[in-house]
Amino acid sequence: MDTDNKILETGPREPVDRALFKGAVNDPENVKSKVRYDWEIPPAPISEEQIAEEMEADVVVIGGGIAGLAAGARCTELGMSVIVVDKHKSLVAHGAHIACLDSPVMRELGIKIDKQEFARRWMHTSGSRVNEDLLWLYINKSEEAVLWLLGLGGDEVELKLYGGYYKGTQFTEYPATHYFQKKKGSRYKTYGAFLFCEILQEVILNGGNQIIRNTKAEQLEMKDGRVTSFIAKSEDGKYIRFKGKKAVVLATGDIGGDPEMLAKYCPIGLRPKKNGYFPAGLNTGDGHKMAFWLGAAMEDPSWAVSLHLISYAMYSFFFLHVNRLGKRFMNEDTWSQAKAIRILMQPQWGDGDWAFSVFDSKWFEEVGERVHLAGGQFTQPLITEYGQPWDENNGVREAIDAYIKKGACHVADTLEELAEKMEVPVDTFVETVKRYNELVKQGVDLDYGKRSELLTSIEKPPYYALKFGPAILNVFGGVLTDIDMRVLDKNHNPIPGLYAVGNVAGGLYGVDYPLLLNGNSHSRALVWARQAAAHISGEEQGG
Ligand SMILES: Cc1cc2nc3c(=O)[nH]c(=O)nc-3n(C[C@H](O)[C@H](O)[C@H](O)COP(=O)(O)OP(=O)(O)OC[C@H]3O[C@@H](n4cnc5c(N)ncnc54)[C@H](O)[C@@H]3O)c2cc1C
Repeated sequence: MDTDNKILETGPREPVDRALFKGAVNDPENVKSKVRYDWEIPPAPISEEQIAEEMEADVVVIGGGIAGLAAGARCTELGMSVIVVDKHKSLVAHGAHIACLDSPVMRELGIKIDKQEFARRWMHTSGSRVNEDLLWLYINKSEEAVLWLLGLGGDEVELKLYGGYYKGTQFTEYPATHYFQKKKGSRYKTYGAFLFCEILQEVILNGGNQIIRNTKAEQLEMKDGRVTSFIAKSEDGKYIRFKGKKAVVLATGDIGGDPEMLAKYCPIGLRPKKNGYFPAGLNTGDGHKMAFWLGAAMEDPSWAVSLHLISYAMYSFFFLHVNRLGKRFMNEDTWSQAKAIRILMQPQWGDGDWAFSVFDSKWFEEVGERVHLAGGQFTQPLITEYGQPWDENNGVREAIDAYIKKGACHVADTLEELAEKMEVPVDTFVETVKRYNELVKQGVDLDYGKRSELLTSIEKPPYYALKFGPAILNVFGGVLTDIDMRVLDKNHNPIPGLYAVGNVAGGLYGVDYPLLLNGNSHSRALVWARQAAAHISGEEQGG
């Protein structure tokens, strides 16, 4: 992503002249608020003459990622007519993990999670900014939601438990991250999160409902205090009004692709040079903006952001980490979000956003001997089945070889030569390694407090320096909702007819993304979607 760091440096602009609001589609409450960014100014309404077509369904959904498709699929199951509108030409999905706090696989393995402890840890990570009703909704319904999706896939997919969670004492990654595996001969074409979306899409289409692509929603419309429709622009520039007899559901994802929104709600999100969300330009907070223009309440900044170490090499392990000055800067026995942020805090981050993990030729065995003491995301492969041993077949050695070829891992027979390849000051780097080896010998990390069982020497050439750094994935903050996913106005009253699911909805994550349960974002999208669908269907019966 081409982030505009100038926004970060110069700060927001002066308030905009309120006269600009004349004729704009918004409520008076919004006009009173101080406008500081261009996107905060509601656009002029699209006139009736410009509307070329109208389409109608019980439920119209904006955005066809996992959250929008799940809402569409659940509403379809509940007998409602649905139109899902997406601005992209094909399925949008990322990653593969999906979490639930309990599952048949976990029960079989005797794994039980203390939900109260989980909730406390989540609240702690979120900086106490979590809406506890939403948190417990997630805790109580994550299994039901994941098994629902699995069930929709019939007997062609199975649920596997991920084994690459952290097993050490310094922090927690619960062994409750799962993934779907296709059975042989499955009709599904995709893997990972694409498979989740492929399954959901099939339910919508088989139920006689529609998914319309290449069509971008631009404005919500209200009638008599209720959101009744939205207007979208099709590929050929035609405006179409989509009317939702029962509901309009926002499922437009996050704001990570909009630098101005990041500047307001999540400035640290401007720092990584790479954006891991693809295709670029979809997660521009369109739903946030449309709801904001109507007077929806937004979660207070600063919003949580997931920063994963996927920019260069996808591994960092627990070995010595050095910055671009050739210095150690952290306890390497920590979670990947913390590593990402520490890297962004290093001097000269504007020129580079990476660090190096430094080890010697013993590395593969050293990780293998300690994987049961540490492990975790970016130490083990992203698809590692629970209980799978660390061995030569796990693909990690091949991955490191590939990074060497790509220039993301340097190898040298001397530390001096390695430092030159890393482009760090040679003397400083050699001194750093010398100091680290002394600490290893003493068995106590006096500098950063890393556990002694993870202290391994750097003495047997060849030496390696694996380059790793963060990319922004998603920003987890948005419009406030109640537990039925109804969007709230500034007085915290539901805006009739308007729902938000997935990353456009705020209230769950607070200030930091909790890696204590990897895969929570996908199952959160499912839980929110099912909750919204249940409420919409209840409304159908006058509930
Ligand atoms: C590289 C990567 C890996 C990840 N891995 C994992 C993982 O393993 N496990 C996990 O739980 N989470 C993972 N995540 C996070 C997870 O993918 C997201 O949090 C989740 O997909 C959010 O779903 P969503 O439906 O809310 O948003 P999105 O998936 O972003 O979907 C939003 C959709 O809305 C559409 N849209 C936006 N604006 C408009 C508009 N104006 N009109 C019409 N359509 C619009 C977009 O085209 C898009 O299709 C990962 C994220 C990334 C980037």
